[in-house]
Amino acid sequence: MAEIVLRNLAKTYPGTRTPATDDISLEVRDGEFLVLVGPSGCGKTTLLRMIAGLESPDEGTVHIGGRDVTDLPARQRGLSMVFQSYAIFPHLRVRQNIAFGLTMRKTPKAEVDRRVGEAAELLHLTEYLDRYPAQLSGGQRQRVAVARAIVVDADVLLMDEPLSNLDALLRMEFRTELKRIVGKLGTTTVYVTHDQAEALSLGDRVAVLREGRIAQVGPPLEVYDAPTDEFVGGFLGAPPMNFLPARLDRTGDRPGLRFGDQRITAPAALAGHGSEELTVGVRAENIEVFDADGPDRLAARVEVVEPTGAAILLTVELEGRQLKVQTPPSFRIGPGSPVWLSVDPGRMRFYRAEDSTAIR
Ligand code: ATP
Repeated sequence: MAEIVLRNLAKTYPGTRTPATDDISLEVRDGEFLVLVGPSGCGKTTLLRMIAGLESPDEGTVHIGGRDVTDLPARQRGLSMVFQSYAIFPHLRVRQNIAFGLTMRKTPKAEVDRRVGEAAELLHLTEYLDRYPAQLSGGQRQRVAVARAIVVDADVLLMDEPLSNLDALLRMEFRTELKRIVGKLGTTTVYVTHDQAEALSLGDRVAVLREGRIAQVGPPLEVYDAPTDEFVGGFLGAPPMNFLPARLDRTGDRPGLRFGDQRITAPAALAGHGSEELTVGVRAENIEVFDADGPDRLAARVEVVEPTGAAILLTVELEGRQLKVQTPPSFRIGPGSPVWLSVDPGRMRFYRAEDSTAIR
């Protein structure tokens, strides 16, 4: 078993005032693929380096496989890692670089050859096995580092932006491959990225970090569908979740939800809610667009039309606010057109106006 348990990890770098990580507690289950995601400077790398033993926490503990490793050096933690500055050996050919960890463990040659061959194939490096790192592109070198890390089949794999040097197409291809191979190996993996699409597609769970703290952790779709606050909803997903100020209106037969001068029936989820002012969060794909008015529709105007291939992304203006709305590619509409929006009540999320935390 190689679960990772982090308890109250805090780290402030000397000479800085704000903590890089602040009281982080997190459990990564045995065999789980956990993605740490968040904007630049939120503490992802620092957290990963503390798990690796490359940085020591000011406070808190790290347990791996039930063992307290907080004071153990990196090499005694039984990990395999790929960091942004992928240190591969310039004097060794790709083949020897990938085989390095296996050779160190005195693995029989036939097995080394087999595993290096598999890893090279997986990372599309077979034709480069006899080259030296200086003869490779940045993306190819990065793939050598990934191959070297996965080939040893360690209990725990730590990766910090391992695909950052690949172009968009390769990145997507390797994302899929990585998911497949790591899933097959069953290695407990912690993966750092600032790319929200990568986080959503790779993780069994994602932990969204903000300013050294965990803003939310959960399965990707859960975090995507029900972000705990506006920060998470704005960070995960492209386009970001829409947030609109609204007001609960209890006059009339049925409670309503007001957006500026417009009113729709309030979703049942808000029935017991006390506050009048709130923020409604809704994803672009959960808003339906019509070319005519109807019950519980909101009048808006199209500002920008952006075809994305699989869909059309509209930027519309609703009561002085901009909103992203997704329509099928067959939907024909031009800028300036009036539209009417219908939001699936079950897909609306509600946040307190005061502090943007979720109303459950
Ligand atoms: P990025 O996505 O840009 O790599 P990150 O989320 O990985 O960012 P960290 O590298 O962990 O963030 O940095 C967290 C905070 O700690 C940042 O404010 C950063 O400036 C600071 N920091 C990181 N390393 C050091 C260091 N060696 N000395 C001082 N401050 C540091």
